[in-house]
Amino acid sequence: MAFRITYSALNANMDELHLELDQAIVGVKKTLGQEYPCQINAKEVRTGKLLENRNPSLIEQVLGRFHVAGAPQVDQAYQAAHEAYKSSWGNTPWQDRAKLLRKAADLISERRLEIAAIMILEVGKSRLEALGDVEEAADLIRYYVQQIEDTQGFKRQMGKLSDNENAISVLRPYGVFSVIAPFNFPMALSTGMAAAASTAGNTVVLKPSDDAPWSAYKLYECMRDAGLPAGVFNVLFGQGAETGELMVKHPLSDGVVFTGSKEVGMKVLRNAVTDFPKPVLLELGGKNAAFVCATADLEKAVEGCVRSAYGLTGQKCSALSRVFVHASKKDQFVAAFIKRAKEIKIGNPEKKETFMGPIINERALNRFLAAVETAKKDGKILCGGSDLRKSGGDFAHGLFVEPTLVEVPTSSSLFRDELFAPFLALTTFADLKAAIAEANKSQYGLTSGIFSADEGELEYFFDHIECGITYANRKTGATTGAWPGVQSFCGWKGSGAGGKGGCGPYYVAQFMREQSRTVMS
Ligand code: NAD
Repeated sequence: MAFRITYSALNANMDELHLELDQAIVGVKKTLGQEYPCQINAKEVRTGKLLENRNPSLIEQVLGRFHVAGAPQVDQAYQAAHEAYKSSWGNTPWQDRAKLLRKAADLISERRLEIAAIMILEVGKSRLEALGDVEEAADLIRYYVQQIEDTQGFKRQMGKLSDNENAISVLRPYGVFSVIAPFNFPMALSTGMAAAASTAGNTVVLKPSDDAPWSAYKLYECMRDAGLPAGVFNVLFGQGAETGELMVKHPLSDGVVFTGSKEVGMKVLRNAVTDFPKPVLLELGGKNAAFVCATADLEKAVEGCVRSAYGLTGQKCSALSRVFVHASKKDQFVAAFIKRAKEIKIGNPEKKETFMGPIINERALNRFLAAVETAKKDGKILCGGSDLRKSGGDFAHGLFVEPTLVEVPTSSSLFRDELFAPFLALTTFADLKAAIAEANKSQYGLTSGIFSADEGELEYFFDHIECGITYANRKTGATTGAWPGVQSFCGWKGSGAGGKGGCGPYYVAQFMREQSRTVMS
């Protein structure tokens, strides 16, 4: 594969890659239905209680069965991670940690086709999205390792109050980090959070989403094969409300890094911090808005909005879910948008032409259908809105819905609640300042985009929109498509805690605590 896939790749020649992916899909399908144990202290742990992982494109297909960790296994994992932190990893020179993690990144890159094929099956990602997820995972490790290399282990010479005083500041790990990941970027997010924690010298207990455990198992294999010592990287499978809750409440959990919904994130925060403060890094949901101004290049705006609203079936935290269109452009925008949305290839993402795969599970599908009913009540459906299972054929076996555009007033709940579905709410505006103020009423503050040829409008947008990730005039994605070392991914307000984003230059330091060392001579 000669070129790199990112989420913003538009016109890559994918022919050779498609052939390789075809073979990889055939390969992983030969392993369907296997059992996967939890991995604790470099040992396979079977509990007999199994979680079924199903293909959302073909719901009768069981991809694998994962052993669910209960209280004894959770305890075993934290004891092992604590021991590994104390006896080795926490004191391993950062250069040695960096070397092992770089090796893991190389293994992820080497195995990208197999891992992408798995994500196509377990999350229903399009081929391009799946490959982007794997490439991002490897790049995240490299970018985070570079942060400890650039700072030579986060050590700094400090000032002197007297000639015989030598003071330095050094960042040191906390201990064991609980890492809890969502389903939608099962490689990149599990890898990024775990790699930052372990680059910093913490050991890790990871729980992937119960909708995407297979990718995390592959990540474990890469970490293991890279030579990470026993106990440094442990993986538990299970439901959030059971296994996840036991993890964050465990007394040997010294910190938590969580990516997922705001609702669950707030629960995690309350459960993790009881007796005394601990770091709890949260990256949460979004209700992301784009503004299409009177001077916008409409072709760019339509393409950017369609890609961000419907890429990964609208299941990105950065997905576009609210669009404010200048009243003078509404008719043109809506007509061009509907035409473009109708061109979207929906279907099983094993097929190379598919842009939009299924939605992840029945719960998400019902949320989509309820939103359609709300739109009918509060406003009108401009395109889409159907449950495609009813149209039969390939669609009958998976959780497929139509890309949907609705027009509703901003007072509608469809302008407020995160849906995590291919569902975009539209309204018009006359005054950009008022539209931005309206968008800022959201409790979320993740991503936002603008299409305008007016420098003054762009400046006003950047200065006043309350979001951590902003884009202007981006055809490859109005609000989506961040990349490590390029776009820091920092949720404001209800979209995150920590104030420094993943993919960004300050991320690894958040997994460390400062120690001041003064030596008198
Ligand atoms: P979710 O919140 O339902 O689950 C996330 C993880 O938390 C899963 O592993 C789940 O099993 C676990 N969990 C559930 N209840 C728990 C509990 N009580 N204690 C501990 N763990 C628990 O999210 P999801 O549906 O997997 O993912 C979609 C959400 O993630 C969306 O809200 C999306 O915006 C958000 N997200 C945010 C970012 C970001 O960087 N800001 C990135 C991706 C996804």
